[in-house]
Amino acid sequence: MIPVSEPYLGKEELENVVQCVKTGWISSQGAFVRQFEDEFASYVGVRYGVATSSGTTALHLALVALGIKGGDEVIVPTLTFVATANVVAYTGATPVFIDSNPQYWCIEPERIEKAITPKTKVIIPVHLYGHPADMEAIMGIALKYGLHIIEDAAEAHGAKYKGRMIGSLSTISCFSFYANKIITTGEGGMCLTNNKSLAEKMRLLRDHGMNPTRRYWHNCIGFNYRMTNLQAAVGVAQLHKIDGIIKIRSEIAKRYNAKLDNLGITLPPKEDWAEPINWIYTILSSNKEGIIDALTKNGVDTRPMFYPIHILPPYQSDNKYPVAEGLSSKGFSLPSSPSLTNKDIDYICGVIGENSLSTS
Ligand SMILES: *Cc1c(COP(=O)(O)O)cnc(C)c1O
Repeated sequence: MIPVSEPYLGKEELENVVQCVKTGWISSQGAFVRQFEDEFASYVGVRYGVATSSGTTALHLALVALGIKGGDEVIVPTLTFVATANVVAYTGATPVFIDSNPQYWCIEPERIEKAITPKTKVIIPVHLYGHPADMEAIMGIALKYGLHIIEDAAEAHGAKYKGRMIGSLSTISCFSFYANKIITTGEGGMCLTNNKSLAEKMRLLRDHGMNPTRRYWHNCIGFNYRMTNLQAAVGVAQLHKIDGIIKIRSEIAKRYNAKLDNLGITLPPKEDWAEPINWIYTILSSNKEGIIDALTKNGVDTRPMFYPIHILPPYQSDNKYPVAEGLSSKGFSLPSSPSLTNKDIDYICGVIGENSLSTS
């Protein structure tokens, strides 16, 4: 089976992990954690990095640090990975779902304003499949209504919006380093912010709310959301080759685009104002099931697009989100690992070619 995603690990990752094991620095105490925080923050161009145990805990930490609680409302796209909404539910606040933009699949800014109430506190745009959300429009709305923005940048390390780095356009941005993300620490995440007191608050909350200068004195109810030195050791090595990884992934997307053009398939979006990165190469076809079946039979793994969250059991709602539903019903992802060869891509596109024209 050609997998959808494989981590891209090498010698430096191995050496860094060996160093942790040899020196005994395997928990969250250890120099790689701070090094990874500093280097990733500086890569994105943000002042402070707070590493976490996952992208999900990063998002939850960000909401708690902003004081989000029961009775509040947080605006999220309905078409995203479920964690974006779950973290809102963890705080007791209500996720308010917004439909997608049909061209670039992210949250539709025009619909955000209509959903704002006196209870709204935060907007969480998601840079879906590596394509930036329309941040200028969202920042305008946030400013007008006094809301915070938390970017869910879990799928968009290195993407740019109008020349500016994704992750540098909000109060707090959150990244994931899960094994299938652009760079990985196995499990892991990070919050970035330019606000020193928010960074300190997130560090406190991440470590059981423990006063950093007074052991076992807990200022507030915190969490254990720390990243380990072992994870950060991998992250430091991954970050050193992120530009190469993004380049390989974009070449994979280019080859797919060239081969799948004119087959009645909608290729991944690219707005003029966006420099997306190719997280997992995702396309739309009205013959989604037929193509997925044919690929599976020919040894090629795929992933369906996320289901819109408003149709999932915990969040079921009668509201209609036709754009997200339409995208989700047609969308699926193809193998996108940096280790994918041109031969793999040509083979995959050959199978798609035989199964797409009939219904387009
Ligand atoms: C992966 C992902 C997350 C969660 O990250 P984990 O590290 O898996 O917890 C959150 N939001 C989006 C959009 C994601 O793709």
